[in-house]
Amino acid sequence: MNTISTEKFYGGKICKRKPKSNTHWVKIHRVMPSHILGPMQYWKEFSKQADALATAAERSTKTDTLCTFVYQRTSDGSRKFAVAHPEVYWWYYKAKPQEHRCSYEVIPKGSPCWLYLDLEYLIQLNPLCDGSRMTKTLIDIIRTYLLNHYHLLCDRNSILILDSTSSEKFSRHVIFTLKDMAFRDNSHVGRLIKTIYNDIMLYLSSDIQSHGILKHFNKADIEEMLVVTKHGKKLFIDNGVYTKNRHFRVYLSTKWGKQSYLTVSPDCTHTPLNKCKEKELGIFLDSLISYFPNKSNLILLEFLNRSNVTAQLYSKVLTKTVREDDNQTSPYPEIDKYIRSIIDPGNIRVTKYFDKTKILRYEIYGNRFCENIGRWHKSNNVYWIVDLNKKEIYQKCHDEDCSGFSSVPKSLPEEIMFMLDTEGDILISSVIIDENIT
Ligand SMILES: [Zn+2]
Repeated sequence: MNTISTEKFYGGKICKRKPKSNTHWVKIHRVMPSHILGPMQYWKEFSKQADALATAAERSTKTDTLCTFVYQRTSDGSRKFAVAHPEVYWWYYKAKPQEHRCSYEVIPKGSPCWLYLDLEYLIQLNPLCDGSRMTKTLIDIIRTYLLNHYHLLCDRNSILILDSTSSEKFSRHVIFTLKDMAFRDNSHVGRLIKTIYNDIMLYLSSDIQSHGILKHFNKADIEEMLVVTKHGKKLFIDNGVYTKNRHFRVYLSTKWGKQSYLTVSPDCTHTPLNKCKEKELGIFLDSLISYFPNKSNLILLEFLNRSNVTAQLYSKVLTKTVREDDNQTSPYPEIDKYIRSIIDPGNIRVTKYFDKTKILRYEIYGNRFCENIGRWHKSNNVYWIVDLNKKEIYQKCHDEDCSGFSSVPKSLPEEIMFMLDTEGDILISSVIIDENIT
């Protein structure tokens, strides 16, 4: 475990703790007390994001989820990545002078996350806009979509609204903190928000009176969400915040060189989810988009398109919370490649090799086509079996109605058969199988 180095975090103003005498360091800054049940006292800094993300995934445990933060050094604005438990990050972050708080959370690609929104418009171009009312309209529309698509009742008190509006710019982050519910990753959030965005634009630009969801709202209220930008009229929703490994500014931070801090908006009625003695810490934890202290009970929402919407239990979707690509390859890269080619656009979620029976099992995501029903399943995934003895391959299914079903076995391609004949046994014996992986 690393000693926490705050030297860089504080722009070099604070002395590093020396191994024996830490009096100097303590005088300047308190050492975070460590409790037996407290968070993992881990802190490491990186200049490369990929290294930080890999370390956060690797070091996270069942009880301690580490996050990756990026912050800008006040001295020169250069970016550094820090991996730490959010409570540990908070401990050091809150002690910084306000103007030095320029921190962002990295929302790792492929990780569960809240539904989040970035709302903005220029005040000068939209002097009559009522941002608070617009936020409320949008939240209510999204709540209706969640109810319609996922049968999910989303209370207004589970929505955290952070505001960093300045005299020039209206700017808000809205975070839907649904208990034990998250989106599979931010690409699903992005698709849902873009769908809603397009629905609204179409509804406003045409004479359609009968949109299933939007008809419940006052058209003038919906119209109010259109704002003037330098590139024409748009909704006040920033659609560009759902990219891979997105940086999202954290509570109480400002953009570097600016003086507008994200604080809780006056019209926010959020009920804390992380109940902490320190109220501010609770808000900080709730506001993190990709921090879930207990992933095992999480229900993951997916949105591929409006007719392909699902919810499933995290433990069923991801058998391992971190480093999910560890077991996406089998001892047979050629067979993996072949499987990928037949399940496109899907991918391999996990593979398992059963030594005794010489069976390879590939769990699939992103392609639920089942030969038994001749179409995609709505929520259950399929899996493929490779029988190395018979050199055959067939598809099976997790849907209850398909239990016991196996597709008609097909032979493996010749080049793979050849490879198995010549080196199969050598390959297998050289691989150690971890039975605990799946
Ligand atoms: Zn099936």
